[in-house]
Amino acid sequence: MSETALEIKNVHFSYGSVPVLFDINCAIPKNRFVSLVGPNGSGKSTLLWLLSGMRKPQNGEILHNGINVSRMNIQERARKFAVITQKESNQLSFTCLETVMLGLHPHRSRFSKLTRQQMELVWNAMELSGVQQFANRNITQISGGEFQRVIIARAIVQQPEILFMDEAISSLDISEKIRIHKQLRALMAKNGLTVISISHDIDTVNFSDDVLALKKGTMAAFGPPNEVFTESFFETVFNVKAEILPGKGFFIRDTI
Ligand code: ADP
Ligand code: MG
Repeated sequence: MSETALEIKNVHFSYGSVPVLFDINCAIPKNRFVSLVGPNGSGKSTLLWLLSGMRKPQNGEILHNGINVSRMNIQERARKFAVITQKESNQLSFTCLETVMLGLHPHRSRFSKLTRQQMELVWNAMELSGVQQFANRNITQISGGEFQRVIIARAIVQQPEILFMDEAISSLDISEKIRIHKQLRALMAKNGLTVISISHDIDTVNFSDDVLALKKGTMAAFGPPNEVFTESFFETVFNVKAEILPGKGFFIRDTI
């Protein structure tokens, strides 16, 4: 049996009196690349907030190494989880290098000098996401896709056990998407990282180990893409007609 990164048990969540997640149960294995998919408003971002301990479910619990994530303090969470939200601000007056260095924050004592090892970590992460050339440029002066890659570098510098990404790869062009996927894979092989990534690019979801699908706040499927992606899955979850090309992937034909 593989180790579990996160255990989701009977999780329910409401915004005020409006329920948005219903009885989610799932064990996410460690060291996997998990794509969280589903239509707009199905509860993906909300589930990510809960899994990373930034919000607390009204019922049920989420365990990381047996510890309830909503009871972990902010420092503990920052050491274990890196979160890239859908609304990262690029309005601050920081250079790209300074932004990536912020990822070291949970591992540094206040006012301490950067060690050579920490500096190497920063450069390696910038190299991994291909943003070294922007090091001294202000984050307001790069493109949206480049900014996303700076934020990915910052998250890697955090050296998390779990990396959560909310549509962080979506704005990259296709070759960058594949390149970042491969780089994250290499990192996963090296340090056991688990990645949980919300994605609308159903094509690149094929690169993941597991797919967790939500529909209207309920769990519609969990498993490897070649098992989850069936014609009836696309019909019931996304309301589209798909043709499955065995061993190759799928082709979306039309809406229903
Ligand atoms: P997704 O990421 O799959 O698009 P979300 O998790 O953002 O979905 O939203 C799930 C549901 O919760 C949607 O109906 C959305 O309108 C609602 N919702 C999201 N955030 C809030 C909020 N802060 N307050 C109230 N309702 C919200
Ligand atoms: Mg969302």
